[in-house]
This record gives sequence, C-alpha cells and structure tokens, in this order.
Amino acid sequence: MANYLITGGAGFIGSNLARYILNQGHCVVVLDNLATGRLSNLDDIADQITFIEGDIRDPDTVAQAMQGCAGVSHQAALGSVPRSIDDPKTSHDVNVNGTFTVLDTARKLGIKRIVLAMSSSAYGSHTVSPKHEELPPRPISPYAASKVAGEAYAQGFAASYGLETVCLRYFNVFGPYQDPNGAYAAAIPKFVSALMQGLRPTIYGDGTQSRDFCYIENVCHANWLALNAPSEQCNGQPMNIACNRQISLNAIIEKLNALMGTDLPPMYTAERAGDVKHSLADVSRAKAMIGYEPQVFFEEGLERAIGWYRTSL
Ligand code: NAD
Repeated sequence: MANYLITGGAGFIGSNLARYILNQGHCVVVLDNLATGRLSNLDDIADQITFIEGDIRDPDTVAQAMQGCAGVSHQAALGSVPRSIDDPKTSHDVNVNGTFTVLDTARKLGIKRIVLAMSSSAYGSHTVSPKHEELPPRPISPYAASKVAGEAYAQGFAASYGLETVCLRYFNVFGPYQDPNGAYAAAIPKFVSALMQGLRPTIYGDGTQSRDFCYIENVCHANWLALNAPSEQCNGQPMNIACNRQISLNAIIEKLNALMGTDLPPMYTAERAGDVKHSLADVSRAKAMIGYEPQVFFEEGLERAIGWYRTSL
C-alpha cells in the first residue's frame, strides 16, 4: 500500500482520481485550496483520505503534503480559457508558479514521479487533425500558454534532476462531479443542467465546433497507468489523453435531448475568444508509452454523467 498525493483533489478530475486510487488499494493525500473545488466532492471518501487545505504556491505546504508519497498526480490549476483571458496574472501564478513549486519541492524531497494534468489547448491554432504531439505548441490563450510552460518545466526537471514526469494532455473531460455552475463552467455540465431545469442550453458560436470529449474514467485510468509506467517513459514528453472520436456541440445537445426526454433546441450566442474550432486527438503515443486505451466512449459516458447529475443536482 502506497501514498499518493493529488493536488487539486477536491476538484472534478482530482476527486474522481482520489476514488480511483483508493479502489486500487492505496492511500490518498489531497492538497487543495478550494479555489474552484469543493470539499463536498470528497464527502463519500472523507474518512479514507488525508485532506490538506492549502496552496500549491506555498513550498512548505506542498512539502508537508508530499512527505512520504510514492507518487504525485498534479491536477491543481485554474482551468478555463475565458477565466485566463479575464485574469491572466492569476492563471499564470497558479498554473506556472504553482506547477514550478510542485516540481521543485518534489525534487528536493526526492519524490520519484509526478504525473501532470496538461491540456489539448497547447495545440491552439493548429488545424491539423487529428492533433499529434509532434506538432509544436501554438497557444492562443493565457491558459494554454500556462499549461505549455508547465510541460516545459516538467521536461526540464526530468532532464536536469532525473525527476520522473509524465504530462497528460487531456482533451475535454466530462463526468460526475464536474461543476455546472459559474461563468467558467464547461459545456456538458452546463447543457445537462439547463435541460434539467427545462431551459434551452446556450452555445457560443454556431455549434458546429467539435471536441474529442473524454469520459472521466479514461483520465483516471491514464493517470494510474502513468503513475506506474516504466521509468524510461517518464521524461516529461506530453501525450494526448482522449478517445480519438469527435462530436459537435450541436450533436451533443441532440443526444442529450434524446437521452433526457427533452426537446429544447440550443440558443446561439457570439463565439468566445481563445476557443479552438475543432479538436480531435491522436492517442497512439499514450498507447505506446503507457499502454493507454480509452475504456468508456462518449455515449456511455454521457449516460453515466446524466445519471449522476440527476441524483446529485
Ligand atoms: P477543477 O477546477 O474542478 O479542479 C482544479 C482543482 O485545483 C480545484 O479543486 C481547485 O480548488 C484546485 N486549485 C486551484 N488553485 C489551487 C491552488 N493555488 N492551490 C491548491 N489547489 C488549487 O478543474 P478540473 O477540470 O478537475 O481540472 C483538473 C486539471 O486538469 C487542471 O490542471 C486542468 O487545467 C486540467 N485539464 C482539465 C480539462 C477538463 O476538461 N476538465 C481539460 C484539460 C486539462
């Protein structure tokens, strides 16, 4: 039985990952300052984990949380492209300086491995499809730039100090515990929540934009594979984590209406700055390096997510 630290473990992805690692028979420490996450996301496992409320930018707190950990999954960040456009300095501070602090503390403590939550937003303006990791980063938002900087640090620390790092470039993740509320909420939870309230969901743009939506279980699985991959695969090279399937926002709303028994067409509003038009992942590198294959595809994931929102909202 080993201890794993999850930074940002009170958030959407981190809280699911905490459950996943507990189910593998290990112990979990969560470090989170509750900026966007919630303690209630951990209610059902509260007595099985160690929760530390604190900031990843504070080296002493990070050191306390990392003490004795076999590995770290670094999920904490300020997500959302629009948030970063509204307030680039805070996104930079948390995502770049926070990630630096996590890496630097890990090397000082002799932690073996860190898996880092990175983002498909690194591809930005590339129109190539599917997106593969040989494409040079082309960020088109402060958020994307901050994530690319995190990857660069992960590679730099692996090369300089032998700290094992794995950068997982998530595409659009969805599933239970993803917050539908607030200006910066993601598309699927917002759509589901609108339909549940009998409201027409809002799409930014014409709805033809498409994404490689990835159910949360795939992301937890990828983190676990990355935490256990052979050392030679852990040099900070980024790898895409998604399903290699593409779906438009219009098609999602059609599917949601069918699954939820509603008939509420979308309302369209202006496109948002920093949004990419199409995003589809080539996942062959993750397969080759850590043995990743998607486990749950979009439709099944959507049904599971709806089931969760129905009982939890
Ligand atoms: P989330 O907002 O639900 O979770 C992030 C967590 O980090 C929250 O619990 C928040 O309170 C915590 N946090 C923020 N600032 C912190 C700080 N300074 N110190 C300590 N904790 C802090 O977001 P999520 O969707 O779960 O995202 C997790 C990670 O995955 C992030 O790094 C995000 O950039 C990345 N990512 C997410 C997606 C997605 O589709 N959800 C896609 C690509 C990448």
